[in-house]
Amino acid sequence: MPSKKSNSNSSKGPKPLHICIVGGGSSGWMMATYVANHFKFDGRKLKMTLIESAEVPPTGVGEATIHTMRGYLEDAGISEEKFIKECQGTFKHGIEFVGWSDNTPSFFHPFEHPPVVFENHAALNFLKADRGEGAMARYDYWAGIQSRLARNGVSPRKKSDIPYHGIVPYGYHLDANAFAHFLKKIATQRGVNHIISHVDKVESSKGKIDRLHLRNGKQIEADIFVDCTGFAARLIKELGGEFISGAEQLLVDSAVTCQVDAKDIESRPFTTATARNAGWTFDIDLQTRGGRGYVYSSKYLSPDEAFKEFSDAYPGQLDESRARHFQLRIGRMDKAWKGNCCAIGLAAGFLEPMESTGLYFVEYTARLFVEVLKSLTDDNMEVHADWFSGIFSELFDEVSAFIEAHYKLSNRRDTQFWRDATSAPHSPRLAQLLSLWESRAPGQFDFTGRSFFEAESWQAILFGLGWRPQKSHRLASVDQKTALAHFRELKVHADRIATTNPQHADYLGL
Ligand SMILES: Cc1cc2nc3c(=O)[nH]c(=O)nc-3n(C[C@H](O)[C@H](O)[C@H](O)COP(=O)(O)OP(=O)(O)OC[C@H]3O[C@@H](n4cnc5c(N)ncnc54)[C@H](O)[C@@H]3O)c2cc1C
Repeated sequence: MPSKKSNSNSSKGPKPLHICIVGGGSSGWMMATYVANHFKFDGRKLKMTLIESAEVPPTGVGEATIHTMRGYLEDAGISEEKFIKECQGTFKHGIEFVGWSDNTPSFFHPFEHPPVVFENHAALNFLKADRGEGAMARYDYWAGIQSRLARNGVSPRKKSDIPYHGIVPYGYHLDANAFAHFLKKIATQRGVNHIISHVDKVESSKGKIDRLHLRNGKQIEADIFVDCTGFAARLIKELGGEFISGAEQLLVDSAVTCQVDAKDIESRPFTTATARNAGWTFDIDLQTRGGRGYVYSSKYLSPDEAFKEFSDAYPGQLDESRARHFQLRIGRMDKAWKGNCCAIGLAAGFLEPMESTGLYFVEYTARLFVEVLKSLTDDNMEVHADWFSGIFSELFDEVSAFIEAHYKLSNRRDTQFWRDATSAPHSPRLAQLLSLWESRAPGQFDFTGRSFFEAESWQAILFGLGWRPQKSHRLASVDQKTALAHFRELKVHADRIATTNPQHADYLGL
């Protein structure tokens, strides 16, 4: 780091800041590529090394993103066209939830926010209309156009749109292994030194990592170590990092995934999350294959039973020899940055695949890390580390409460999993929000701006599940006539976009 001491008139100049990332999964390469676009690695001021083990394969299944990924890619200096081509990218309007509630067979969580004309009133307008005629039970159609675009297979952007922009915000589906490979090429071209070897020993003293001992016999010293070793959290644990489990609130702890062939995909521009007996399955369509997964609780199903239910749900599509089983470690480290070690990705924490938050946390922390690097000196790492850890914990806990709500507000009680999942204890944050919302809908002032999932997302999930405030005195003041006129206008608008934007499959040439 730019050292006060070493910035003195030494003829050799300051010692370069050395960042050593351990882990060659999505998080390691996302971090390396992003940092490399913001700093030049010239061996004098900065040096970056990425070490990955040949013995431990990356998790390689993070295949759906939220729409902030566009900002990450653009800010990392990556061409959207190349990214889509090399990573089998398809567009994602949001998530369709199927079977999560008896109230509606399905509902949609889009990325867009309700149109400006509604401002904060979309929820109130919806509640009033819903109480009146009962005709507006679908909040997703009420709050915007994106769920209609998704269901009609319309692309969120045209070829002539500037990169990373469309008529509505959009995320991606991507091939996780291709994505890591794509980023690896870019990061190494930008000067990141890549070493393939297993870290056998982490040597530390006084709460900091001194050096790593690699299986190839080399030792690596650095100023900052970035732990991207996945669930192993190999570096941060060495510094006494403690894991705070989220298993009490979120019951799923296992997953089985399987790739499916092109013949079994429909190139849908959205992810589907379908509630099942002991969890939920996801459908992700890429350009030439699909990703399917069953995220479940091992308390209720063995891996064999889970695969059986999974393959019954996708008749004729799943080949057991391609199935991969995972144990999920739900929760986060007490501090994501300890001493001179910063953990990101699965090493820092994981919240199950719902709402595609894994890569979102990586993008977010890569940005935080760059902020820290800009102002780091020899003697202020601790204060920046605390800042980084505080923000990550707050973000993680906020998103965790949101994921919890998906289960706890469901009215499914048909299996033991659902009876237990819906009655599991609420986190303090979820309990606080739900008591506020007994008498009103989620609103903008309930959130600090830290998490991507704010009032609009909560409304989509809560209203979609059939939740309503128990008492809502403010409904009387809503001008329903104007609201209904806007509602009709939304459909016309969505139909218009379907004529100006191409079909998703046509855009991608599928
Ligand atoms: C079933 C499932 C579905 C998911 N779906 C999504 C999704 O749709 N969207 C989303 O955003 N996220 C999703 N995630 C999360 C996503 O997969 C991860 O956030 C993402 O892959 C980042 O992982 P990672 O790079 O942190 O860890 P990993 O991919 O596990 O990489 C760990 C790396 O560390 C290296 N390593 C480990 N130990 C050592 C050692 N001792 N020495 C040297 N190297 C070492 C390994 O070689 C590997 O390269 C999902 C996760 C699971 C399990």
